[in-house]
Amino acid sequence: MDYRPWSAHQGLIHTYLSSINILLCKGGSNRFLLNFARQKLKSPLSMDQNNIEKVNCLIIGSGPAGYTAAVYAARANMKPVLYQGIQPGGQLTITTEVENYPGFPEGIQGPELMVHFEKQAHRMGADIRYGLATQVDFSQQPYKVWIDEEKIIEANAVIISTGASAKWLGIESEQRLNGYGVSACAVCDGFFFRNKEVAIVGAGDTAAEEALYLSKLCTTVHMIVRREEMRASKVMQERVKATPNIKIYWNSITDEIIGEKAVEGVRIHNTATGEKQEVAIKGFFVAIGHKPNSDIFAPFLEMDEAGYIKTTPGTAKTNVEGVFAAGDVQDKIYRQAVTAAGSGCMAALDAERYLSEKGLH
Ligand SMILES: Cc1cc2nc3c(=O)[nH]c(=O)nc-3n(C[C@H](O)[C@H](O)[C@H](O)COP(=O)(O)OP(=O)(O)OC[C@H]3O[C@@H](n4cnc5c(N)ncnc54)[C@H](O)[C@@H]3O)c2cc1C
Repeated sequence: MDYRPWSAHQGLIHTYLSSINILLCKGGSNRFLLNFARQKLKSPLSMDQNNIEKVNCLIIGSGPAGYTAAVYAARANMKPVLYQGIQPGGQLTITTEVENYPGFPEGIQGPELMVHFEKQAHRMGADIRYGLATQVDFSQQPYKVWIDEEKIIEANAVIISTGASAKWLGIESEQRLNGYGVSACAVCDGFFFRNKEVAIVGAGDTAAEEALYLSKLCTTVHMIVRREEMRASKVMQERVKATPNIKIYWNSITDEIIGEKAVEGVRIHNTATGEKQEVAIKGFFVAIGHKPNSDIFAPFLEMDEAGYIKTTPGTAKTNVEGVFAAGDVQDKIYRQAVTAAGSGCMAALDAERYLSEKGLH
C-alpha cells in the first residue's frame, strides 16, 4: 500500500488553516487548533515503523459523534483512545449560535458546546489526543491505523467519526461572512432569518430541500442556479417551482456577497445574458454538496458514490467486522449535531458488544 508523504498533508493543513482564518475573522480563538497547527507545521512528518501501540477501542474524530462514542466507550471501561484530527471539536467550532442542541434552553456557542463534549469525554476517562489518521489497514485483526505517519495504533475495534465538510463557492466574501449570515446548513441556521429575505445557491436535491425548508420561514428565497435547469429530482423541482416565495435565477453565478460585518445582499450575474444585479438579502445559504472525510478508508469500507460510509441500517456496523461508523461520515440525510451524537452512542454500544462477543472486553 502506498504511503502518503508529508506533502500529502499540505492540503489538509491548508483546510485546517482556513478554519483558523474563519475563527480569527470572527474574532474567536481556539488554542487547540492553533497549537495543533504549530506542531504540524514545525517539523516534517517522519515515520518510525517500530512505533506501535495496542489499544482496545480507537475513535477517529472529535465532533459530536466521536466525543459521544468516547463517553459511552469510557463508561463501559473500553479504555478508548480518541484522535482529534485537524479540527478538534469538529464542524460546530466554526459556527456561532447553536439553538437546536437539546439541553441548552438559551442556545450555546458552537465552540463552547464542543468544549463541554470534550470535557465530559475526558472526565469519563477517554484518552484524547492530537493527531490525524493518515492511513488504515483493516484487512486483518488487530486493525492498524497510522497516526501522523509517526506511529501505528493497533486496535481491536475502530469507530470512525471523521465527519463531512460542506463544499463552498470559494469566494472571499463567503469566507469573511461565514457565520455572519453565510451558512451551509439551512436546518441549522434558517431560524435566524425568520421573516427575512435569503438566497440559496445550488440545484441538487439538497438545495431544493433546503430552499423549501427556508420558504416556510423566510419571506422570499432567491435561488441561484448555475445552469438553465436543476439537477434535483423531478418531484423536488416541481415542488420548488410551485412554491410562490421561491424565486429562481437561472444561468446565474454569485460574484460577491455584499456586507461588511453581516450579509446585506448578493451580487449575481446571468451567464446567458451578461446581466448583473444586486439582490438585498440577510442570509446566504450554500447548498452545493458535502464531502465526507472518508478517503483513507476507501480501500476497505463500502461507500456510496459520494463517499459516505455504508452502515447496516439501525446499527453503526460497517462491512468490516469491528469497524463502526458514526455521524456525518455515514449520514447524508440528517447531518445534525444531535443525530451525530446519537449515532456515536450507537457505535460505542455496538463496539462494546463486538468486543464482548470476541472475548476482548
Ligand atoms: C457552519 C455550520 C453550522 C452548523 N450548525 C449546526 C447547528 O446549529 N445545529 C446542528 O445540530 N448542527 C449544525 N451543524 C452540523 C453539525 O456541525 C454536524 O452535523 C456535526 O458536527 C457532525 O458531527 P460529526 O461528529 O459527525 O463530525 P464533525 O463535527 O464534522 O467532526 C469530524 C471530526 O473528525 C476529525 N477528523 C476528520 N478526519 C480525520 C482524520 N483523518 N483523523 C482524525 N480525525 C479526523 C475532525 O478533526 C473533526 O474533529 C452545522 C454545521 C456547520 C458547518
